Amino acid sequence: MNLSKPINLVLVGSIFITLITFITLLFVGDVDTLTYIWLPLLIGGLTFGTFTFIIERFLNKKIQLIHRIISNKKLDKESSHANLSQDALGNLQRDAVMWVRTQQEQIKELESKAAFRREFLGNLAHELKTPVFSIQGYILTLLEGGLEDEKVNRDFLERALNGVERISHILTDLDEISRYEFDRYNLKNKKFDIVSLAKTLFKELENKGSERNIKFVFDKSYEPIQVMADEGKISQVLTNLINNSIAYGTDNGTTTIRFHNLDKNKVLVEVADDGSGIDEAHLPRLFERFYRVDKSRARNIGGSGLGLAIVKHIMEAHGQSINVRSTVGVGSTFSFTLDKAKS
Ligand code: ADP
Repeated sequence: MNLSKPINLVLVGSIFITLITFITLLFVGDVDTLTYIWLPLLIGGLTFGTFTFIIERFLNKKIQLIHRIISNKKLDKESSHANLSQDALGNLQRDAVMWVRTQQEQIKELESKAAFRREFLGNLAHELKTPVFSIQGYILTLLEGGLEDEKVNRDFLERALNGVERISHILTDLDEISRYEFDRYNLKNKKFDIVSLAKTLFKELENKGSERNIKFVFDKSYEPIQVMADEGKISQVLTNLINNSIAYGTDNGTTTIRFHNLDKNKVLVEVADDGSGIDEAHLPRLFERFYRVDKSRARNIGGSGLGLAIVKHIMEAHGQSINVRSTVGVGSTFSFTLDKAKS
């Protein structure tokens, strides 16, 4: 007999009381034979009925109260009613454990969101502080007499303008990220040749690469590969990855682009450099907003720390994935997938 069901407990109790009544009658002895049967059965039956009624009412009150606390659904009479023939307390315990688990998960999620917000605000303040303070310094110097000094006035205004441009760059990047985060992007997918786009970008960025004597190459010669995507956005992704390969590359190094056919529907595009590389510990956070491996160096190079976050959003908006492999001292390879265009 399953004693976790209240009805079975009441039944055992009632049988016990029936037996006690019977034994008591045996001791009293002065009753007719039928009384030995009907009196214990009557008392047992009454005990069973009374206890079923009292316990059911008691449990119902408690269970409904607990359900009201742990459930945000309005329960109908049936589901919040403790039927004594069921393991009502066991069911309640299961519901409560589930409720505690859900609460713990929600708390964890809220905590991580709060930490993320704190970190984001801290980073944003830090990024804006440097250019704002430098603009303030130049303007003050100009107001305190620099304006009349032909030797510095133009130079200081240009420096202040650089600061404004940096802030404007950060705000434009943030605005772009928030558009992706609120799903307010408008992809203009069309068929284009990714090999030819990569060649065009190599040409456009040639001067920048030559400042560090970095060569741009394909690992082999490629036939055109037609893909279906927003060409402007993919151009932005490739530009960012090539720019990073220059910024974090090595003097006299090489940036290589490779294409792999994953299957008949997808192509993998890789941008590889032989630069500083990234320690494995940083890789999982690399695509986060403002995340930088070497904070002071990256800021000097001039990036907003938002480039890879935007790149990831663009690829996710395309329903594609982006990845990074890297070894310190050897270099980094960023790769992303694209859908091939149906011919
Ligand atoms: P940033 O504006 O700082 O370049 P990104 O989002 O483009 O911002 O990159 C984030 C960080 O990732 C960089 O600060 C740098 O530390 C690291 N990183 C990006 N690309 C490379 C690369 N090719 N080699 C080494 N480190 C890289």
